[in-house]
Amino acid sequence: MSKQKIAKPEMSKEELLNLCICEGCPTYVDCSKQGATKEKAFCMIFGKSKCITKEKGCICGACPVKAKMNLKNFYFCTKGSEDQQNNNFFFILLQSKHHYVQPQL
Ligand code: SF4
Ligand code: SF4
Repeated sequence: MSKQKIAKPEMSKEELLNLCICEGCPTYVDCSKQGATKEKAFCMIFGKSKCITKEKGCICGACPVKAKMNLKNFYFCTKGSEDQQNNNFFFILLQSKHHYVQPQL
């Protein structure tokens, strides 16, 4: 059986989960202790967490996944995956253009 590939083809889901260092982060909460699914690798797999709400620092900068996948964002567990955060940025940009009002001269 071939390994499941996600988003960027050069890393499998298993590799991402193995390399993720979220469990050593002060912000990390193991949702499985609250009866939900255990989550990590929020940048590529889970996106925004179902149980993490308080930001207490983000150690993604020290994670090999961040460097390998050239990820630009942080706090994937509270703000959403890399794609979600990038899309939010463009959505805000679009909205700001839409609401731009030409100054009266
Ligand atoms: S970049 Fe952050 S969320 Fe993504 S795998 Fe690494 S530690 Fe986990
Ligand atoms: S995404 Fe960042 S802030 Fe959230 S648990 Fe992982 S390392 Fe910590």
